[in-house]
Amino acid sequence: MHFIKTIIPSNPGFTKEKPQNEPFLEIAEFFYDTIQGEGIHLGHPAAFLRVQHCTQDCWWCDTKAVWRAGNPYSFAELFDLIDATQMVAKLKAGQHLVLTGGSPVKQQQGLTLFLQAFVKRYGFKPFIEIENECTIMPTPEFTQLIDVWNNSPKLWHSGNPEKLRYQPRIIKYLSGLPNAWFKFVMVKEKDWEEIETAYLKPELIKRNQIILMPLGASREELHENREKVVEMAISQGVRYCSREQIELWNRKTGV
Ligand code: SF4
Repeated sequence: MHFIKTIIPSNPGFTKEKPQNEPFLEIAEFFYDTIQGEGIHLGHPAAFLRVQHCTQDCWWCDTKAVWRAGNPYSFAELFDLIDATQMVAKLKAGQHLVLTGGSPVKQQQGLTLFLQAFVKRYGFKPFIEIENECTIMPTPEFTQLIDVWNNSPKLWHSGNPEKLRYQPRIIKYLSGLPNAWFKFVMVKEKDWEEIETAYLKPELIKRNQIILMPLGASREELHENREKVVEMAISQGVRYCSREQIELWNRKTGV
């Protein structure tokens, strides 16, 4: 897509050593001038910083090949790369910075330091969204930096063991934040039963925080699932969202 600008490409074809004695982030890809494809800000112009590594291993994950690759970058290297682009001006003009993965909270110490250094260097804090699988408790310092929590706890069909994917204490904490949404990937009708039993009945989250999203790593799969998920959302009185990056670019990464 000619309008999307790459800062760090996915699978760059090289590996580099961890920087010694300076802070760094392990990054899978970094790009801007695209749109947020999911969640409450679907359609908003956005930059994506995708980190390496995840706490989960969802069988249907469509970015696994990307977040399993990547390299460690020192903050100095990242600022050099950023300075060679127009991204800061775009963020200043309102583009959102979306932290995604893999698991951004897994690197929350590094991200906190990096975002604090960013604010110091450029004199403003961008509007920051995060994609979160909800299995690590965020620190107060990190929480403070995030403007929108796109939480996506994983249900049975992800294939992850329950004790790995379902963390009630962390979900309850996240739900108490004023800027938190819970986006569930849906496959079958019985997925709603799990949301009722494991999330709504124990009052871990509120109904008006729920967004249902169809499973779909390809346009065909998305189209196959979306109608029943729209119906589920209507009958339960909760939001629906698509996966606009799949609608627009199908299986392409880096968008
Ligand atoms: S939590 Fe997200 S990034 Fe991690 S494996 Fe599952 S879908 Fe992929």
